[in-house]
Amino acid sequence: MHRTPTRRSPLRPHRNRLLAGCIAVAAVLGLSACGTASGALQPTATATTPGAANSTGTGNGTAAGTAPAPGSDAAQPRTPTAPADPGRATATGKPVGTTPGATTGAPGTPTGTPAAPPAHPGQATKVISSTASGGRTVALTFDDGPGPATGQVLDLLAQYHVKATFCEIGQNAAANPALVKRVLAEGHRLCDHSVHHPQPFEKLPHDKAVYEISAARDMIVKAGGPGTRVGWFRAPGGGFNADNEHIAAGLGMDSLGWSVDPRDWSRPGVAAIVSTVQSQLKPGGVILMHDGGGDRSQTVAALKQLLPWLVAQGYTFDFPAA
Ligand SMILES: [Zn+2]
Repeated sequence: MHRTPTRRSPLRPHRNRLLAGCIAVAAVLGLSACGTASGALQPTATATTPGAANSTGTGNGTAAGTAPAPGSDAAQPRTPTAPADPGRATATGKPVGTTPGATTGAPGTPTGTPAAPPAHPGQATKVISSTASGGRTVALTFDDGPGPATGQVLDLLAQYHVKATFCEIGQNAAANPALVKRVLAEGHRLCDHSVHHPQPFEKLPHDKAVYEISAARDMIVKAGGPGTRVGWFRAPGGGFNADNEHIAAGLGMDSLGWSVDPRDWSRPGVAAIVSTVQSQLKPGGVILMHDGGGDRSQTVAALKQLLPWLVAQGYTFDFPAA
């Protein structure tokens, strides 16, 4: 009842096909280590085999989706309600909308394991897919890090004075605390992207979803240091459902989708990443890209083109709505 028709994704056939592959892999491996919209897992101690992160390359066909993944769509393109900002002016890349995102997670929140929130099977929350300020703003979001490409992404963002949101995998945050601290020190914001990136995330039993979401937040907070705030939760693969959205909400995090998906994790080529963003982005949009999950050289190269393009188009950079 809470799923509006506008969430139907034009990319869904691809995603479903990929999900089918993910499910097959998960069935074999006993955990899902594949990426759909959100890319493959960073190699970690819990990764199973090198071939587990098999999401690349093969998802460009047009086969009808067969994966039983209802509700796997995250945020889809939608028209921002705010009018175009008449005074957009500066185009300096300076962030706007500095109001903190989710404010329910007070700084200094203890990192201990919280009590498991109850399931709310019938009540989805809103999945955010627009910026906080609306108007001619854009929110850049980077998933699956921190990892080897995170430093390059941060360097580029700093060059353009752009603030972004990083949806981090808990175990990657734990392995790279210095990068988490750098993300925070440079004014970016954090988002919970689960501990292990299991997919299809929306199929997890409640208790496992609680663990993946709450433990990841704790790991990110521990890596970032005292006062670290994690304002959003993004389900791996966009696998939101009412249960995981409410688990996140109970932990003070809003569910964060996107409106533009250039599928950079699949390494479609720099030109494809750039052109997809340029054609799909509307004012107030949230762009999904990746700083982890494998070789992100295409993402970095695309970002080098997209940042000046966004500035030239009059966009200012914002955080997602909360
Ligand atoms: Zn992801």
